Amino acid sequence: MKWLLIFFLIKPFLTMACLPNEIHIREQWIDTYTKEDGTHTSAHVRSEHCREVKGNNFFQDSSAKEFRNFKGKFKPWNPSEKNLLNNEIEKLPQWLKKYRIANFLRASVHEGNPKNPALTYPDNKTLILFDAFFNSSDKQSILLHEISHIASWDIDPVELQNFFVSNGWIYKRGESPKPPQKVIIPDSSHSPSEDFANAVESYYSNPKRLKEFNPKSFAIIEGIIKSKEKQ
Ligand SMILES: [Zn+2]
Repeated sequence: MKWLLIFFLIKPFLTMACLPNEIHIREQWIDTYTKEDGTHTSAHVRSEHCREVKGNNFFQDSSAKEFRNFKGKFKPWNPSEKNLLNNEIEKLPQWLKKYRIANFLRASVHEGNPKNPALTYPDNKTLILFDAFFNSSDKQSILLHEISHIASWDIDPVELQNFFVSNGWIYKRGESPKPPQKVIIPDSSHSPSEDFANAVESYYSNPKRLKEFNPKSFAIIEGIIKSKEKQ
């Protein structure tokens, strides 16, 4: 889907793998602080770690965080939209449902890209959903696609690499991967992550086309999905 955007951070496959119900917390500097009980903690570097997302799919009406490539305002969720989204999540394949979303945020429009229905931040499992998502007739495919971006962080890097190479991505040390000449959906050439999310989406929406496009890549994607289904 050419209007779906993803912000794919620095080589996520090389960072620490977290479980589907966890989010990745980067190494960060913690300033000196004093706890309520008076315990003093000196400034220190807190190392990279995984933190469990407790509960299920949190709806947030606002957020103080800054988001890459999004400068707009958040708006409160209304109950019917929450229900609709919960129903769509219920319909997702079991293996994708395991990836709990830490934050669901709601905004009217992605400025500069008004047709974009959703933005996904795999590193902190946050999804921003726009009016375009709620106006779409195929919400299931959008969610499948977006959550596949999150799932891609949790896939065996060798299998994932096999998929990218089989699809024609060229990797050279010190350079960004070079996209294949022919892709199944135009924006698959934006990044390997986009290619992967489009392939998972196609696996469910049009498997015949995916298989015809590249039988070897189809077999790899099928293998990845089947092994994830067993976990
Ligand atoms: Zn995408």
